[in-house]
Amino acid sequence: MGLAQEAGRVAAEFEYSDAQVNKAVKEFIRQMDEGLEKSGTTMSQIPTYVTAVPNGTEKGLYMAVDLGGTNFRVCSIDLHGNSTFSLTQSKVAIPRELMVAQTSKELFSFLAKQIATFLQTHHGEHYHATIRRRATIHSESGFEEREIFNLGFTFSFPVEQVGINKGKLIRWTKGFDIADAVGKDVCKLLQDEIDALHLPVRVAALVNDTVGTLMARSYTSPGKTGTLLGAIFGTGTNGAYVEKLDKVKKLNGAENSANVDRTTGEMIINTEWGSFDNELSVLPNTPYDNSLDKETPNPGIQMFEKRISGMFLGEILRLAIVDLIKERKTGLFSDDNSSSNDVHSTTCVAENSPLWQPWGLDTSFLSIAHGDNSNGFKVTRQTLDKDYGVHAASSEDAEAVKLIAAAIGKRAARLSAVAIAAVVIATDKLSAPKDIATADDTPVNEDEMVDIGVDGSLVEFYPGFEDYIREALQQIEGIGKHGEKRIRIGIAKDGSGVGAALIALVADKLA
Ligand code: ADP
Repeated sequence: MGLAQEAGRVAAEFEYSDAQVNKAVKEFIRQMDEGLEKSGTTMSQIPTYVTAVPNGTEKGLYMAVDLGGTNFRVCSIDLHGNSTFSLTQSKVAIPRELMVAQTSKELFSFLAKQIATFLQTHHGEHYHATIRRRATIHSESGFEEREIFNLGFTFSFPVEQVGINKGKLIRWTKGFDIADAVGKDVCKLLQDEIDALHLPVRVAALVNDTVGTLMARSYTSPGKTGTLLGAIFGTGTNGAYVEKLDKVKKLNGAENSANVDRTTGEMIINTEWGSFDNELSVLPNTPYDNSLDKETPNPGIQMFEKRISGMFLGEILRLAIVDLIKERKTGLFSDDNSSSNDVHSTTCVAENSPLWQPWGLDTSFLSIAHGDNSNGFKVTRQTLDKDYGVHAASSEDAEAVKLIAAAIGKRAARLSAVAIAAVVIATDKLSAPKDIATADDTPVNEDEMVDIGVDGSLVEFYPGFEDYIREALQQIEGIGKHGEKRIRIGIAKDGSGVGAALIALVADKLA
């Protein structure tokens, strides 16, 4: 077979039919329901204790901090009450030694000091006024309510959340390792150090970044109905949505049910959908997916995420490319000038090319290849040459790579549609209002829109990602062409800034 046919054959392995998509949606809804009933299920469906989403009219000055990896970010957010906000922020690298400190106090007192510096720099007047007043009345009890900044704490490590501002650290990841913090309430660890510095700041909410995305979108989105779902398609994938409280059966009688505010009858659920169908009962599977899974530190886990997100798509493409180069003698990246039998020297791929290294191909390359409509796929060939040491790729080579990249990206988008559709159907958002016409060509009113906020490089930069999602949605039973038109998808920026501030606001209102 020629190269074009071989590439077509590989691309076909990534096809995910309408029938398969529909089957997956049903299973997704089943796993969502199961996760609401009990703990220990494939999809965690974590209750967040956040029981309302904003509608854009919220006002006030709030703070947010984000501890997620290499940096600590401190922001203040002024919500203007008209779906807009202004944000001031500072960012500092976490010193390596504090990530592995002897005691959690060392890390958290560093964080509190950054908050103090931020307040002095950006809110000096307020800061000094409250400190002066405290000094004159010699009150140890602290500040007046109106002087206190409510703060949302985005903490991107596994925690068991037991209240809106309470969560126990399960384990550290990403290079952090401070034994005495494990099992402790991370909000309290931060609050204790804030109090030690006498700062007018209350840790009002513990924030998951996906929930922040939902809140940020709900504040900024057009319309007044609020956002249903916040979804991330970046390094990883996850979604958080608004669920009816009475469906969250696992909260009933639970130790923490007293911490639940029941006034809205709703609660945001963090699905942790990256682990949907780890059993592979409905997910597509190719030899490349299998090889990738084996290379990861957690084989058999996060199987949905491994077919969708930025961390993995580049590697799937790399495995397919290497397979074509090595095994099938298809002529991909062949070096016409070489007469050697050694695979490395019969190709135009340099021996030290990242293509030979696991995880060597970045997912942004898929966006480049898929979006390349230049003459002879010049852009792809230049990128291969410059970033991947492929020095004389032909236009046929680039076309073959583009075909496979496009198939991998399209499959990821269709899988993303599965998650979106399942949430829309499970929450019954398309059946109300009951009396609207649903013929394919019926125009859609603003108040019939179901709003979805998305964030992440894949959905932002991969060409046509949303179009592929929409194409799949139209074919899903329970959505259809008219339902697809009612789904509004918008980018939600800055979940860990404005989103976290909004959660602090909601928490403060409920307190
Ligand atoms: P995070 O999810 O960590 O907050 P991003 O949303 O920026 O951050 O996602 C980063 C991931 O997106 C990385 O895995 C990267 O390979 C991938 N990525 C970066 N740029 C692009 C692009 N232009 N197209 C597709 N994927 C991209």
